[in-house]
Amino acid sequence: MILKLVPAIDIEDEKLRDTIKGINIDILKKNKEELMKLEIVLNEMIKFAIKEKGFGLSAIQVGIYKKIFVFRDRKGEWEKVINPQVFKIGSPKLILNEKCLSYPNQIYEVKRNKRISVSYYTLIDHKIVRKHKELNGMNSIIFQHEYDHQIGQTIAIKGKLIKMKMKK
Ligand SMILES: [Zn+2]
Repeated sequence: MILKLVPAIDIEDEKLRDTIKGINIDILKKNKEELMKLEIVLNEMIKFAIKEKGFGLSAIQVGIYKKIFVFRDRKGEWEKVINPQVFKIGSPKLILNEKCLSYPNQIYEVKRNKRISVSYYTLIDHKIVRKHKELNGMNSIIFQHEYDHQIGQTIAIKGKLIKMKMKK
């Protein structure tokens, strides 16, 4: 499987956004082959993100219209996220500079919530497991960034461009 970034216009497209599908968890629980296929995709996404020096990658960025993403947590471990939900705690308080693999050489200023509570499925020992947790700091920011991709939002849509490096 060779993953390739799709143009930014595709991850912002409203029609494509509507085609992003949640993963059918019941099928994954019953069908080992489907589970394995999904695990392969998620592992490839992690490899790709590491190669590109990103902290996270959403499937939509590589043209896969499914609600899945991977991200590197504070401890440096990669987490696989399936069908994420985000519940914001408090009002947006942080204004941060963010980058995105889909917008190379650009930096955007984005408003984020400091703390969020999240719910998602992940894979542990080749089994599908549900997780609920509260996130703060970097983990919270990266999770919100990747979650935005699932709903067609990006830092270019909601943020303010503050720096654009020219390619040499
Ligand atoms: Zn991104």
